[in-house]
Amino acid sequence: MKKLTALTLAAMMTVSLAGCGGSDTAETTAAGTTAADTTAAEAADTAADAADSTDGSAEGTDKVYQIATDITFKPFEFENENGEMVGIDLDLLKAIAEDQGFTYELQVVGFNAAVMAMETGAADAVIAGMSITPEREALYDFSDPYFESGVGCAVLPDSDITDYTDLAGKQVAAKTGTEGCKFAESIAEEYGFTVVQFDTSAMMYQDVLAGNSAACFEDYPVMGYEISQGMELKLLDKLESANNYGVAVMKGQNAELIEMINTGLANLKENGKYDEIINTYIKK
Ligand code: GLN
Repeated sequence: MKKLTALTLAAMMTVSLAGCGGSDTAETTAAGTTAADTTAAEAADTAADAADSTDGSAEGTDKVYQIATDITFKPFEFENENGEMVGIDLDLLKAIAEDQGFTYELQVVGFNAAVMAMETGAADAVIAGMSITPEREALYDFSDPYFESGVGCAVLPDSDITDYTDLAGKQVAAKTGTEGCKFAESIAEEYGFTVVQFDTSAMMYQDVLAGNSAACFEDYPVMGYEISQGMELKLLDKLESANNYGVAVMKGQNAELIEMINTGLANLKENGKYDEIINTYIKK
């Protein structure tokens, strides 16, 4: 994809907000908006001077890489009790940067906004539990895969929905720009439901918890984690769109960053740090 000017960016955001496949767009203001919620437009505006910065080691290049991430996508990125952004993605990134001696700044903007930031050049890379897919590989270069995932469907615990056929005539929630959204839209017509989109996972879950949407589609490791932490939803026994997470950069750009990430990741796998980070968040 070519670099975008501010003007085409504005146009593109409209398109992007209108769909992961181009269907209905939801007003996302109703459900529990927090200070952390950021729209794609705001995110692009503030991307350059965004959020937390983290120092890697002083060695290596002078460049401070701008790395964009999601807001809350547990256990991959979230704010802990001390107000620090942590999680599998961010702990891996920190350890890789230390291992490889590069410096970065984190832009905590939301998934779709993170991809936008990368596409417009406001960010060098995205680490956000981002699935490596053939469509995306046409636009972005990915690191080696670091986590297996896929899409699941969650409903209220007392819901009698057991299959997609039970979603006929209902509204289903998804997060803009994600594989979960793409999957939901790909079967919406066949099963006769409509897809409503949200910018953050929190707002999407809230819409199901509030009974507005009958279900939501999102990565099952993330929903499984939230449920293990007390979120009152249950997962249907269906796993779709199996994929792996990778760190993305724009195609042909920041090749040295991807190389450092791959080498660092391999080193962490070798020295046990990768397992240590995974085990911090996911109890086997
Ligand atoms: N893995 C999903 C995707 O890449 C969702 C990522 C996210 O919501 N942070 O589309």
